[in-house]
Amino acid sequence: MTVHIVGAGLAGLSCALDARDAGLDVVIHESAGHAGGRCRSWIEPSLGRLIDNGTHMVVGGNQAVFRYLRRIGGTDGLVAGPAAFPMLDLDSGREWTATPARLLPSILASAWRMRRACGSSISACLGRSSNFRRFWDPLGVAVMNTPSDVAAAGVFRRVLARTLWRGQAASQPFLARNGLSETFVQPALAALAAAGAQLRLHHPLRRLVRDAGGAAAELVFDDRTIRLAAKDQVVIAVPWAVAASLLPGLPELPASPIVNAHFRLAADPARYPSGGFLGLLGGTAQWLFLRDGILSVTVSAAAALAERPADEVAARLWADAVKALGLQGDPLATRVIKEKRATLFHSAEVEALRPAPEVGPNMVLAGDWTATGLPCTLEGALQSGRRAAERLLARTNL
Ligand SMILES: Cc1cc2nc3c(=O)[nH]c(=O)nc-3n(C[C@H](O)[C@H](O)[C@H](O)COP(=O)(O)OP(=O)(O)OC[C@H]3O[C@@H](n4cnc5c(N)ncnc54)[C@H](O)[C@@H]3O)c2cc1C
Repeated sequence: MTVHIVGAGLAGLSCALDARDAGLDVVIHESAGHAGGRCRSWIEPSLGRLIDNGTHMVVGGNQAVFRYLRRIGGTDGLVAGPAAFPMLDLDSGREWTATPARLLPSILASAWRMRRACGSSISACLGRSSNFRRFWDPLGVAVMNTPSDVAAAGVFRRVLARTLWRGQAASQPFLARNGLSETFVQPALAALAAAGAQLRLHHPLRRLVRDAGGAAAELVFDDRTIRLAAKDQVVIAVPWAVAASLLPGLPELPASPIVNAHFRLAADPARYPSGGFLGLLGGTAQWLFLRDGILSVTVSAAAALAERPADEVAARLWADAVKALGLQGDPLATRVIKEKRATLFHSAEVEALRPAPEVGPNMVLAGDWTATGLPCTLEGALQSGRRAAERLLARTNL
């Protein structure tokens, strides 16, 4: 009996680890020449530096993330980020630090408000207080990658219940020490290789043939067609648009982009907050992150910005960075990365459409976009991978 896992993002990798640990034969089919999907790093030639496709943050309360990192021996790959976030309002020049410990009254009030039925969006639930603009709104946009006036309050509430409402340890942010692939992907591939799982790169699934009972019967690749044996299982761990093309009947789900611009600096900025992070209000840039001479600027819920030409995006984000940090001159090099399908657009309407993992007698869906109850995040992706493996194991009676 073989488990065919289609997609080597974090959902596919975590499913593969659990299935292999349970003694199942595992083959992973990945369309790209590398694993990691939307969580990856590479040496960018134009910058001469290692960059991430976008700065990823996880927090202490992300149990699936830490379980996965322990399994792959990769907890050292994370480094603690700032426990308090320096923030700057570009309009007024006002600076402050968003410290969850000091915002405890507002956090407790949020728990109270969100426990009541309070409307479908984050802003409808939490109301537009001064803490909303300075804390809840930037946090909500970063977590949900969706504007707060439409982002599903129920999903945000679930995140808060696992993080901020649990106190400091669960709220502690962590970042990849060197790069996302180095932290989340390469150790997983080493663990899978050691456990005897097969990974086929450059191996896109083109078509999936189902029998009359809805079971997967054939997997059609460019170089071969795999006819599935009676007990074989398939895990579809591809992004939602690809899944919808392979499995007609899955809903069309809208995406929300994230834009990152990476600037190679001629010199470190004269003033920069310790911890390398700065949150911005009042401009286009939302978060600045400095590592190894590269200033990375993140914009979430970036639907409009993602449609602008890269030069214009770079100019706008650089102007905000100059204003925030007092940078002199031009960057030595620039790279703009628009992830147009970074995550789902997390409105309450879309939340209701996210599919459950079961799609056939020998088939399971995995991926951050499935009905995890969480926003599209590493935690959601890893939970979905684990859940898919649990389904497989229940079916195979191991
Ligand atoms: C810019 C950006 C910033 C982010 N920031 C954060 C953050 O701060 N914190 C956080 O927790 N999360 C963050 N995320 C979200 C996180 O990266 C994703 O939730 C997670 O990586 C999704 O993993 P996945 O396995 O579900 O999907 P994917 O990573 O999309 O994996 C799917 C895989 O399937 C492969 N595939 C596609 N088609 C085929 C095919 N036909 N055959 C075979 N393989 C195929 C793809 O190549 C890919 O490798 C961010 C995402 C982006 C893009």
